Amino acid sequence: MAMERIDTTAALQALAHAERCAGRRIALVPTMGALHAGHVSLVKIARERADRVWLSIFVNPTQFDDPRDLAAYPRTLEADLAICRDAGVDAVFTPDAAQMYPAGAQTSVEVDELAAPLCGAARPGHFRGVATVVTKLLVAAQPHVAVFGEKDYQQLAVIRRLVRDLLLPVEIVGAPTVREPDGLALSSRNSYLDKSARASALALVESLRAAARAFAQGERRGDALTAEGASSIAAHPEVSVDYFAVVDAVAMQPVVDATPESVGIVAARVGKTRLIDNMVLGQPE
Ligand code: AMP
Repeated sequence: MAMERIDTTAALQALAHAERCAGRRIALVPTMGALHAGHVSLVKIARERADRVWLSIFVNPTQFDDPRDLAAYPRTLEADLAICRDAGVDAVFTPDAAQMYPAGAQTSVEVDELAAPLCGAARPGHFRGVATVVTKLLVAAQPHVAVFGEKDYQQLAVIRRLVRDLLLPVEIVGAPTVREPDGLALSSRNSYLDKSARASALALVESLRAAARAFAQGERRGDALTAEGASSIAAHPEVSVDYFAVVDAVAMQPVVDATPESVGIVAARVGKTRLIDNMVLGQPE
């Protein structure tokens, strides 16, 4: 069956209605495009859980706190469509901003406490944009299942929370982070890195490994584990750290006493490129 390309929310809703009436399960994989093997891994997980796999590509303007970042974000639509075809995606949803934000739109979705720390503090308004666009995508596509990467750990926590709070009838599935052989988490933003920045970017995963190693050696104090990670990344002066923290996996608050489920989480700039990564302390990589 040829892959469908859908540009309007009306067409997406009509297709969702038809598939649901035919008794088929729909899985949605929301993305901003510039697809890589991390996105493809989400498609594979979606495929195991549904009869139809849909992938959306929308560079959502409301989640960018910096207009230059939005303007520069990689857009590789033709390559993305080829990747989707190869991965067996049934339909790709490629709306423009006017489809997702009808003229004069003034409604947004805000998750309070979970969205406040970490990336919420570093990027004002970011999670309001994410929560709003994900809610709209879930309402428009009416999937039974939606798959998101653990790579964006706080984002996943925010989405799980909004789905519960708004009573949305969809199962949220988290997918493990896909990494390069040396450990760098795949990201659309990695395309910005030149050779030396690419080497510096390893400082993020190394800081998480340092905290996970200390945890494996028996350290349980949250502040000591945080100090391990923070001093590891501070050894790279060319990397500018937004935060390094060891947090509770659900509330995203710093832990006093770490457990195997606690998460090391880091955001840092390498040159102009902002990267994020995280690691569950009891399950390093
Ligand atoms: P993005 O296009 O960056 O907004 O990401 C779309 C989805 O892919 C989100 O659910 C991300 O968490 C997920 N994702 C991004 N990078 C990876 C990765 N390296 N491994 C697994 N999932 C990822």
